[in-house]
Amino acid sequence: MKLLPQVSLLLGSPLAVNALAYDYIVIGGGTGGLTVANRLSQNSDKQVLVLEAGPNAENLQEVFVPGLIGAGQAFTTLNWAYPTVPQTNLNNRTLTINAGKALGGSTVINSMIFPRAEKEQYDAWGTLNNNDSSWTWNALLPYFRKSEIFTPPNEFQQANGATFDRNVHGFDEERGRVKSGFPNFFYQQWTLWRQTAMGLGFPASPDLGNGSPHAVGVAPASIDPANNTRCSAACAYYTDFADRPNFTVLTNATVIRILWAVQERESDITASGVEYIDANNETRVVNVSRGGEVIVSAGTIGTPKVLELSGVGNSSILQAAGVKPVLDLPSVGENFADHVHSWANAFTNLNITNDLLSLDPAFAEQQLNLWFENRTGLYSSASRSLGIAAPSNIFNQSEFKHILKESEEKLDYFATLLSNGNPLLARGIQAQHRLALDLYRSNKNLPLEMNLSPGYSGPTSFADRPARTYNTVHSVLYAPLSRGKTHISSSDPLMPPTIDPAYWTHPLDVAAQVGGIKLARKMLTTGPMSSVYEGEFEPGLDKVTDQDIENWLRSVVKSDTHEIGTMAMLPQELGGVVDTKLRIYGLKNVRVVDASIIPFPISAHLVSTFFHNSFRQT
Ligand SMILES: Cc1cc2nc3c(=O)[nH]c(=O)nc-3n(C[C@H](O)[C@H](O)[C@H](O)COP(=O)(O)OP(=O)(O)OC[C@H]3O[C@@H](n4cnc5c(N)ncnc54)[C@H](O)[C@@H]3O)c2cc1C
Repeated sequence: MKLLPQVSLLLGSPLAVNALAYDYIVIGGGTGGLTVANRLSQNSDKQVLVLEAGPNAENLQEVFVPGLIGAGQAFTTLNWAYPTVPQTNLNNRTLTINAGKALGGSTVINSMIFPRAEKEQYDAWGTLNNNDSSWTWNALLPYFRKSEIFTPPNEFQQANGATFDRNVHGFDEERGRVKSGFPNFFYQQWTLWRQTAMGLGFPASPDLGNGSPHAVGVAPASIDPANNTRCSAACAYYTDFADRPNFTVLTNATVIRILWAVQERESDITASGVEYIDANNETRVVNVSRGGEVIVSAGTIGTPKVLELSGVGNSSILQAAGVKPVLDLPSVGENFADHVHSWANAFTNLNITNDLLSLDPAFAEQQLNLWFENRTGLYSSASRSLGIAAPSNIFNQSEFKHILKESEEKLDYFATLLSNGNPLLARGIQAQHRLALDLYRSNKNLPLEMNLSPGYSGPTSFADRPARTYNTVHSVLYAPLSRGKTHISSSDPLMPPTIDPAYWTHPLDVAAQVGGIKLARKMLTTGPMSSVYEGEFEPGLDKVTDQDIENWLRSVVKSDTHEIGTMAMLPQELGGVVDTKLRIYGLKNVRVVDASIIPFPISAHLVSTFFHNSFRQT
């Protein structure tokens, strides 16, 4: 990694100012940030600097071995682990939103599942932005192709259910760099589960990246199939390029704020530099060259925090936190949306589940040795079998008609409630809800991801559950209508922001998630999955009615850590923060390139979509 040149001007204050000015300063070296920085630094005339708060963790085995997801530092020091405020609708519980704190961002700790969402949902982004035709599935597909190097499944992987459609993938090494494909180990129960799902009305997917994910199949993973290792944003867009002289990456560099040039006119708010805390806890400044740009890529929670600390946001919130407003932009940090995770799990008569890795340390060691010897065994497993459920898979018709009608009648009420006193955003949320309800009505809004874990997943700790083998059907709310917010409450850059996702505020979200548990139970107990079922553990057979399930869910659901929307790409009159070129309204040279710009939740794991969005911006 290159270090900043040592020519610093000490100003007699704690600030050390670097003499070099950069054409682009990228705040946050995560999924969006590294992709965009790599692309910009292809022009050797441009100096690009990335400031990343976390370390380079690519050499940690819990990062590169696919099956070690969640182990070691992944969920401790490499994780911001943002706490929410107590959630009113979830028994006042405080939830944790995980987000990677390392070069590569959340792709360093994520589960590597790499499918795409539904065409109609991408099209909705364009519709919300005055029918902008550059934000539609058709316009985005070429960039999806360009942003990856896909390895088609081999015979073994195909025999285990992996399928692909050549027309929706990219294979070109010269362009995109995210390696994707399939792993070397498949659990038997995945095949059983897919067969069960098909029996319950899910079509077989030719490819879960083809824009029609109301189907069941094996999801591709963001791994390098050649050596069965995770391919994070650092693997894709930094490691092979670290010696580019104009691509400088500083790790352990936490950005405090953007600095602004002295303005000639009120409308000319121009970023002149960035202030950050370095690895030695010293405050430093780097400058943007004339005509240069600051790109904020600190994630859905980190990006509004940096903007608010820089004086850009709702002036009342900034003043209350002790920050002098520079630009009043009340939607910064609003429109927060997240996927919500739940499960049903059951004991199984199968001997091979990933529970064995915790139940039998000697077996776990043998499996890890297998991975290092020839990249096989349980630790080489990464992708999941999954299916995205449509309303017709979840609701009974009369219940569905009733709840849709009620949601349509209360459009105004919920838009006002969820926009927290911001009348333009109320119009934006209303427009989003209208689109979502139209898609719901035509069975095109896909509210839930269903996927099978070959082992226990759920709210009970290892010590507190029976020491047995399990199967779990995850049911993840994918099209939430609830919207929350995240804001600073202090000018201290090291204080986490106050985050209120307002989970489950909208009754359609609650009904869909209750329906998901009923579907998960059905999947566990219908053939051929029923042949390996040995009784339900959670929610437990005492949870009989919808109300029982709902009450249980309120006490256990968690964030799926797919947060989006806080710097929404929407027209200003709908409460947007960035335009369709991702420029912040009212600022001359600041763009946002990360998940926070996504205006409207999509029914997919998000990373393939962000890689591609970021790729497209350059
Ligand atoms: C545990 C987990 C599992 C997931 N599983 C999947 C999955 O299987 N498939 C999938 O598609 N998606 C998954 N996701 C979601 C996906 O990984 C993220 O949505 C996506 O990577 C976010 O990209 P981003 O660019 O917005 O932010 P990030 O990739 O998180 O990047 C933000 C970067 O900014 C840095 N940063 C923040 N604040 C500052 C600051 N003040 N100064 C400097 N740097 C800063 C952070 O450290 C981070 O590196 C998962 C996420 C998590 C956390």
